Amino acid sequence: MKLPYIEPYKIKMVESIDQSTPEMRKKWIEEASFNLFKLKSNQVMIDLITDSGTGAMSDKQWAEIMLGDESYAGSSSFFKLEKTVKTLTGFKHFIPTHQGRAAENVLFSALVSKEDLIPGNSHFDTTKGHIEYRNATAVDCTVNEAFDLEDNYPFKGNINLQKLEKTLQKYPGKIPFVLLTVTCNSNGGQPVSIENMRDIRMLCDQYGVGFFIDGARFAENAYFIKIREKEFANHSIKQIVKEMFSLADGMTMSAKKDGIVNMGGFIAMNDSELYKNCSTFTIMYEGFVTYGGMSGRDMGALAQGLIEGTTFEYLESRIQQINYLGDRLVEFKVPVLKPFGGHAIYIDAVKFVPDIPKEEYRAQSLAIELYIVAGIRGVEIGTLLADRDPKTRENRFPKLEMVRLAIPRRTYTLSQMEYVAVALKNIYDTRKEAKRGYEIDWEAPIMRHFTVKLKKK
Ligand SMILES: *Cc1c(COP(=O)(O)O)cnc(C)c1O
Repeated sequence: MKLPYIEPYKIKMVESIDQSTPEMRKKWIEEASFNLFKLKSNQVMIDLITDSGTGAMSDKQWAEIMLGDESYAGSSSFFKLEKTVKTLTGFKHFIPTHQGRAAENVLFSALVSKEDLIPGNSHFDTTKGHIEYRNATAVDCTVNEAFDLEDNYPFKGNINLQKLEKTLQKYPGKIPFVLLTVTCNSNGGQPVSIENMRDIRMLCDQYGVGFFIDGARFAENAYFIKIREKEFANHSIKQIVKEMFSLADGMTMSAKKDGIVNMGGFIAMNDSELYKNCSTFTIMYEGFVTYGGMSGRDMGALAQGLIEGTTFEYLESRIQQINYLGDRLVEFKVPVLKPFGGHAIYIDAVKFVPDIPKEEYRAQSLAIELYIVAGIRGVEIGTLLADRDPKTRENRFPKLEMVRLAIPRRTYTLSQMEYVAVALKNIYDTRKEAKRGYEIDWEAPIMRHFTVKLKKK
């Protein structure tokens, strides 16, 4: 019999989970106006709201915390991180920032002007925010397969080259660069193939535009390439990472994801002029270029996290854990997005609770039920998040209504995944009783999902 996979680590320190009952949680979620963002963390038993900054650091990372050099300029922790990033990515220049959106802010300050267009696969919200804030437009060129929940296409994060070329042709001089997000977070954590990246590079060269990677989950993307793209089956993760970044001119990074730290980010690039420009913006927005908003200890922990996060054993165990949850849900007939993403399982709320009218926030209703029944906090990716049309102020109803269960790195065990799966099965078995959802009691004019107040219909 084939031995099952095991986590390539053991637990040295534990954090207790406050136990609660459905009655207690019913009261708490009502007090939180049915908004999961307003719950206190000790009211949650399994927190799957995000995989960002919620992972567990290793003993070696904690050792780096003690070794941190907090010098304002020239910190040795900076040089450790710089060397690690340059070795991993091959880029010539490196600047730390306090998180991913800060990296976007600095890079886009140098590169994006009014009326520019930034084509890519589905851009992350803050990325889009930083583009639109500069009166530029994010153009989504993701492959069509990405929008079919059942399609098992292995690289649903890929860019459709025809869509991209059309955009490049139509707007000469208006496109500073193409931005590729790996894995594609907004599309369910779906990977991009090296083949696609090579084609994007060719088009960018042909049209004389830059090519940048939003690398928040670059290691998970490299794992999928190794498993799914034949040419790379025998490459190490670090070789694949090098190959990916060798095709681009630079990158932004939210280190809270594949850096396995609680806070941090960076930019890396080859062009020396761009590096100089970004340095100026970094000093204005983030801090001096040898810390960029991070403490020395955090830079040390990130350097170590990047090394650990790009090992096959670690990535295999991470993806296996997500597959375990996904496979159990499929066994229980719970409708989920396929193939499973690199950092989360997405539940199809349209199929799960078809009797709740779409005007009553189906995915949110399901997320609330999951919290009350089992103390599990997921997040709605649906009508609440899609917000209103800025002109008509009508609700926008997206094609997909989902509940995302994002899995923090090295944080929960398989038995906790089993608990999540069984909780969902139990809700699924009684879903016919769910007929009514929620209505909005109060909402902010923009980004309403974080603060919205709901009441029962
Ligand atoms: C999280 C994320 C960001 C933003 O990073 P923060 O560290 O949250 O500021 C940008 N892009 C992608 C793909 C992300 O997942």
